[in-house]
Amino acid sequence: MASPRVASLWAATAREAASYPALEYDLDVDIAVVGGGIHGLAAALTAAEAGRRVAVLEAFAIGHGASGRNGGLVVPSLPRVGPDEVIRAFGQERGDAFIRVVLDAPNEVFGLVRRLGIDCGARQSGWLNPAHAPSLVASLERRLAAWRRFGSPATLLSAAETRRRIGSARFHGAIADPSGGHLNPLSYTRGLARAVAQAGAPIHEGSPVCRIERRGERWRLTTHAGSVTAARVLQASNAQGPGVQGDPGASGTVPLVVYELATPVLTGEQRETILPGGEAMSDTRNNLFACCVEEGGRLVTGGMAPLTQFGAARWLPVLLARRLGRIFPLLAPARFDFVWSGRASLTPDFLPRLFEPAPGWIVPITCNGRGVALSTALGARVGRWLATDGAAELPLPRSAPHPIPLHPIAARIPQWLLPLGMLADAQAERRTPRGGAGTP
Ligand SMILES: Cc1cc2nc3c(=O)[nH]c(=O)nc-3n(C[C@H](O)[C@H](O)[C@H](O)COP(=O)(O)OP(=O)(O)OC[C@H]3O[C@@H](n4cnc5c(N)ncnc54)[C@H](O)[C@@H]3O)c2cc1C
Repeated sequence: MASPRVASLWAATAREAASYPALEYDLDVDIAVVGGGIHGLAAALTAAEAGRRVAVLEAFAIGHGASGRNGGLVVPSLPRVGPDEVIRAFGQERGDAFIRVVLDAPNEVFGLVRRLGIDCGARQSGWLNPAHAPSLVASLERRLAAWRRFGSPATLLSAAETRRRIGSARFHGAIADPSGGHLNPLSYTRGLARAVAQAGAPIHEGSPVCRIERRGERWRLTTHAGSVTAARVLQASNAQGPGVQGDPGASGTVPLVVYELATPVLTGEQRETILPGGEAMSDTRNNLFACCVEEGGRLVTGGMAPLTQFGAARWLPVLLARRLGRIFPLLAPARFDFVWSGRASLTPDFLPRLFEPAPGWIVPITCNGRGVALSTALGARVGRWLATDGAAELPLPRSAPHPIPLHPIAARIPQWLLPLGMLADAQAERRTPRGGAGTP
């Protein structure tokens, strides 16, 4: 296979481009937002539209982090955990509120795209969560029942219907949720930034915040060439970028490098067979298989590498092309035109957190590899909370940062465990009875 370009499809095709000047003076605002990703921008937009003075500081360019690099899937669910775990972690009342936020998050994304007229190829064509082995259908049923208790519109598809909707014989039933979909995440993030600027909030790119410190009743954020003084700070800096000195969020999360890849534009026959309804999908594998066919007709999929060293961008596409060819024989021998990577942040229980290292300084962790919808919805609520000086309800408790014990070692565990997860995936698939994988 010829090596794909180590470049992002989104960077090559995104619209809504604009640039914002670096901060070269001292600013005084109500709310300072660190990070020009979906979370920071959704919060900034809500607070600026509520009439508060907001400034956004981005170390590099808007969408430089996970928001501009992700797979573009808009998912009405949480990774690995369900409503029961949410309620155990956050309590009945907050848990209830948070689950409803998760379920409604895709509607908020697509609603925002329409309201702001963001040109990002957004398609609310549904999300499929198929079982990669027959033994996993029962757990999908339990998962679906738990989400439906909270009003999820999802249904369970038969094996035959799953194969038809995905265009692959390798799946055995699926949760289908019509509220999900996909978009070009870099165009979406840039569109949010455009709306923030139109709402009157200055955005400064190329302005890494080096320090956040208390100055009397206010906070002072320092960049190389300027500063912002604010009553409240939202540090939505996630895992990509320089972070902030003494970053209180960093020791409470595990960074994870994730690769994304895009095939050449599919042929007519491939498009009619593979996800013909345009859904986004992510399956039940530990080594997740997720994909969608983006607006330009390329299939975008992702994967993790057990080792990110040794030029993973060159050898991982070979492994992922084999997997893609097995799942979609019409694509075999599969190849990719683009490969790129981004850094996600995980919490140990895969649930988001709102860390509050000191009153008025919020560090949200909403990533867990599933944050396009959730960062939009939570960002908006955090923005409302900031804009109302803490009067609005938050669907998550605010807590002191919880440092993960033995963080330097813990930070490597997801990557080390990946081979075991892949082995379990292969074993589950091998237990598929003969004839269990029929024609799509
Ligand atoms: C490869 C990959 C694929 C993914 N696929 C999906 C998917 O398909 N669907 C889904 O729902 N989720 C997906 N996710 C997760 C999703 O992208 C994230 O949850 C979401 O984008 C997080 O948004 P954010 O605003 O919190 O962080 P980010 O987008 O990472 O933004 C943080 C920003 O802060 C900036 N920054 C850092 N330090 C500083 C500083 N000191 N000063 C100023 N700025 C700073 C960074 O440059 C960055 O732009 C994926 C993540 C990755 C990495």
